[in-house]
Amino acid sequence: MPQRYRVIVIGCGAIGAATAYWASRRLGPGAVLALEQYELGHDRGSSEDHSRLIRHIYDRTDYTSLTPAAYQSWSAIEQESGLRLVYRTGGLMMASPDNAAGTGYVHRAADAMAASGLPFELIDGARVRERWPQWRIGDSWAAVFDPESGILDIRRATAAHLALARARGAEIRPDAPVSAITEKPGGITVTAAGQTWTADRLVLAGGAWNPVLLEMMGTSLPITLTQEQVTYFATPNVRDFTPDRFTVFGVYAEDGLTYYGVPVYGEVAVKAGLDGAGPVVTPETRTDDPDPGRVHRVREFLRRRLPGAVGPELRTRVCCYDLPPDRDFIADYVPGSSRVLVCAGAGHAAKFAGLLGRVLTGLAVDDASPFPAEAFRSGRLTPG
Ligand SMILES: Cc1cc2nc3c(=O)[nH]c(=O)nc-3n(C[C@H](O)[C@H](O)[C@H](O)COP(=O)(O)OP(=O)(O)OC[C@H]3O[C@@H](n4cnc5c(N)ncnc54)[C@H](O)[C@@H]3O)c2cc1C
Repeated sequence: MPQRYRVIVIGCGAIGAATAYWASRRLGPGAVLALEQYELGHDRGSSEDHSRLIRHIYDRTDYTSLTPAAYQSWSAIEQESGLRLVYRTGGLMMASPDNAAGTGYVHRAADAMAASGLPFELIDGARVRERWPQWRIGDSWAAVFDPESGILDIRRATAAHLALARARGAEIRPDAPVSAITEKPGGITVTAAGQTWTADRLVLAGGAWNPVLLEMMGTSLPITLTQEQVTYFATPNVRDFTPDRFTVFGVYAEDGLTYYGVPVYGEVAVKAGLDGAGPVVTPETRTDDPDPGRVHRVREFLRRRLPGAVGPELRTRVCCYDLPPDRDFIADYVPGSSRVLVCAGAGHAAKFAGLLGRVLTGLAVDDASPFPAEAFRSGRLTPG
C-alpha cells in the first residue's frame, strides 16, 4: 500500500521549498512530501544563485498589494531560522526618455505604489546622478526609487525553507525524478525512482519542467520557456558598488531593451543581465551555455551607463524563464483537476516564493488563497 500524504510537492526550487515549508507549518508532521529530481541545491533550475532582486516596484496593484506580504513571508523565515535572507539596498527602476514603454512603466509603478501606500520617490536623472554618481544618465531620465528594494539571497532562502520544513516534519526526497502522475477520485498517485505515493493534493512546482509534468497528466498550459543569463563583472571599483553604496536596479534603455543588476554580493563582482531577451527553448533543447553576444551587449550597456562596474567576466549563469503569455504568475489548480495545483513563476517569482508557498498551501488545504491571487488563475489561459 503506497504511503499517503496530505500534500505532495514536486520540485524543491524556490517555490516548491516554500510550499513544503508553509504546508508542513499548516498541516504538521508527516503530512507533506517534497520530491526533487536532482540533489538539493543543484544549479540546473532557476533558484540557485547568490541573489535575486526583491522590490515593491511593480506597475500594477495586483502585485503592489502583495509585496508587503512577500516581505513579511521572508521575515517569518528569518526569525524562525535565525538567518538573514533579505538585504535592503534601495532600488531604482529607470527609463531613458527614448524608451516610451519604460517611461510609462516608471510612472504607472509610482501610481501603483502610491495606491498601495508604499514608500517611494519619483525622481529625474539629475537627482539619480547626485545620489548615485556611479550612473551616467541624462537629466530627463525618469526614475522611481524604492527604499525597501534589495537583494534576496535566493540560494540561502530556498535551503532555509527546506530545513525548516524538515524541522516541522516534512519529508524531503532528493534524487527522486517523478515519472508518472495519476489522478483518481480518491487521490493522486505519484511515481518517482521506482516508488509510488498517494496524496490528497499535489503541487507542481517544477519550474521549467512544468510542461513535462503537465504532459504526464495528459494536459498542458501555454508556458513558453526562454533561456536567460546573468553575468558577474569583476569590477575593479568594488567599494563603489557595495550594498551600502549602490542599489539594485532596472533600466529601460534607449536601445529598447531592459537591463537589471545587483550590487556586489556573493561574488566580488557586479551582477547584470538582460530581462527576457533569451531564445525560446524546451526542457530538452535548453543548455547551460552562455551566449557571448548577450554578455557583450550587457557590457556595452554598462560601459555607456555605469562605466565603473565594467570588469572581466567572472562567470555567467544560465537558467530559464517559464512565461505565460501575459507574464503573470500561475498559482492555481490545473484546469480540469480538483486535486493538482501548478505554479509558474514567469521569470519574476523569487521575491514572491514565500508568498506563493502560502497561496498554494491555502488552495491545497482550504481551496482558498489567503491573499488576493485572482490575477494568477490558470483559467485565464485556457479558451472558453
Ligand atoms: C536569469 C534569471 C534572473 C532572475 N531574476 C529574478 C529576480 O531578480 N527577482 C525575482 O523575483 N525573480 C527572478 N527570477 C525568477 C526566479 O528565479 C524564478 O521565478 C524562481 O526561481 C522559480 O522557482 P521555481 O521553484 O519555480 O523553479 P526552479 O528553481 O527551477 O525549481 C523547479 C524544481 O523542480 C524540479 N523538478 C522538475 N521536474 C521534476 C520531476 N519530474 N521530479 C522531481 N523534481 C522535478 C527541478 O529539478 C527544480 O529543482 C529570475 C530568473 C532567471 C532565470
